[in-house]
Amino acid sequence: MTTRVNRYAYFGGKVVPIEKAKVSIMTSALHYGTGVFEGIRGFWNAQERQLYVFRLRDHLERFARNLRLLLLDVPETTDALDGAIIELLRRERFETDIYIRPLAYKSSDRVGVRLHDLESAVAVFAVPFGEYIDRPDGASAMVSSWRRLSDNAIPPRNKISGAYVNSALAKTEAASLGFDDALFLCEDGTVSEASAANLFLVRDGRLVTPPRTAGILEGITRATIMELAVDLGIAVEERRIGRSELYVADEAFICGTAVGVVPVTFVDRRAVGDGRVGALCRDLRRRYIDAASGRDPRHRAWCTPVYALADSALAPQR
Ligand code: PMP
Repeated sequence: MTTRVNRYAYFGGKVVPIEKAKVSIMTSALHYGTGVFEGIRGFWNAQERQLYVFRLRDHLERFARNLRLLLLDVPETTDALDGAIIELLRRERFETDIYIRPLAYKSSDRVGVRLHDLESAVAVFAVPFGEYIDRPDGASAMVSSWRRLSDNAIPPRNKISGAYVNSALAKTEAASLGFDDALFLCEDGTVSEASAANLFLVRDGRLVTPPRTAGILEGITRATIMELAVDLGIAVEERRIGRSELYVADEAFICGTAVGVVPVTFVDRRAVGDGRVGALCRDLRRRYIDAASGRDPRHRAWCTPVYALADSALAPQR
């Protein structure tokens, strides 16, 4: 696995060397958090010598929806961004797992907090990326003392840059107390999600996850898990989850683009189930990895190949 960093970015409408992708200290979004971003994974399939981007279109469609909320009127269409990302990755010639970060932001060099009468821009970069929470044998989580943002304050649904202050506060609190991650409660006391991942519990053989109205990001990995559960004939309930259900669940796991599927075996230092990775979580994690790296023919449509040839030569494929 290569350890080199990225060399290019998509910036100002084209792929440029990364050192040319710079913004001014006066950039509006830097001050007011008025950006929207995405996180997309690419998985290196060593057997096929192919880099597969997972659910690229779904991520770009979510990005396009989220841009509308912040009135980020960028010139790039979804098709153009799709093409720009593939071009960027071909220039990088990654042969490792990666993380792709599109960002749209209020780019005017102007003082004054607002969404209107400001220019918008898009940038994308990609970096080699390993495990975000390296705990395949089970992570620990705490119920955060920070409450989840509400939809009527800063909507967590829309991957707004400024909203991630909420996640950063909770993550750092958890890390400083020796936990791997934080679980948020909503203002009404029901369970929301982790700092950068959605949450599933297993109760009585069914998957349970908070609904889209519980201050969550509408995760693409969450949707993927729900589809993989259908393959397995496992029922999924989307409903409000009480805090104490965290302590009586049979299994718990968090899922997201960066995180993948990570079992949570301790919450607030209490064992979840028997304190070991549960069978359903283990199975779903394996199925997710197979699907995301192009190894599951049933879900091949989720994977966009970056390189055209088996030897990763950069001839265009589409
Ligand atoms: N919730 C939050 C707060 C996140 O930042 C993420 C990561 N994007 C997720 C959930 C998971 O979403 P996805 O599966 O689309 O990455």
